[in-house]
Amino acid sequence: MLPTFGFVAWMAGPIEMLLLLGVVGVVVVVVVTVVLLAVRRQGSPGASPNLVPCPDCGRLVSRAANACPGCGRPMTPTPGA
Ligand SMILES: [Zn+2]
Repeated sequence: MLPTFGFVAWMAGPIEMLLLLGVVGVVVVVVVTVVLLAVRRQGSPGASPNLVPCPDCGRLVSRAANACPGCGRPMTPTPGA
């Protein structure tokens, strides 16, 4: 065919390899980011799972408490939640 066809085909090798490496790199970055976000979400729930903030005074109250020790607001126990 054309004399330049061989040269183009030879050039397509490294270029395709670079494109493949770029795609693989992007996929790796996305996977690592998703895994890190999932681990971080599990690692830091923000507060103790056994404590809930009082709607009135904002004090952290145990889920098992019947009333807020700060303001006396009746709390609804949510066991298992
Ligand atoms: Zn309270």
